[in-house]
Amino acid sequence: MISKIHACFLLVLVAFAAQAQEAVTVLDRREIALEPAPIFPRYELRLTLAYLEGSGWTPEAIAGAAKESARILGQCGVALTTAELVRVVAPIRFHDFLTPVSRELAATLKLRKPTVYFVKGTGQRPAFDAEAIGRGNSRTRPELADTVWVTRGTRDLGIALAHELAHVLMDSGEHSAAPGNLMREDTGPENTGLTDAQCARMRATGLANGLMY
Ligand SMILES: [Zn+2]
Repeated sequence: MISKIHACFLLVLVAFAAQAQEAVTVLDRREIALEPAPIFPRYELRLTLAYLEGSGWTPEAIAGAAKESARILGQCGVALTTAELVRVVAPIRFHDFLTPVSRELAATLKLRKPTVYFVKGTGQRPAFDAEAIGRGNSRTRPELADTVWVTRGTRDLGIALAHELAHVLMDSGEHSAAPGNLMREDTGPENTGLTDAQCARMRATGLANGLMY
């Protein structure tokens, strides 16, 4: 009888130990300054920028990318003046973007949206450097609505981030073939332009979905 009780107790201890190892925790939150706001029109977009401790991301790289995105989206009157930078510690299985585990991560952290997660890599197939999840492509994974996942391998980081944010704000996976357009499928230093129609859609949908104010 006693040995049974001991065995049960041991099992409970093992379960607790496993849970402790699996903990997803916010280590630190702080405000970072991005770009001065465009004068008119002005729609505030407040991002949460979350990065995983040990994934290789630095606050400097993230702030630099967010500032470049702010300059690009500023042409539509979208203002990114400050953002919240959140440092997260999580078990290694959360370090890559993969729908089931990333859903679990987002559900646990419950960070304010839109959220950009800076992760190590991706386990998704096809594998993209960066991915945006809006309302339209999150019905089976609601925790991931209004999030962007950026991997360490992402080229033209600030431009790629602006591109993914535009997908989220417009709630559209559409691409443009226009030369120099931000929404070209291939990101590049020369592709930073947005048309009036794209800006109008970004503002209207972003406001309607409560992502800007
Ligand atoms: Zn795209």
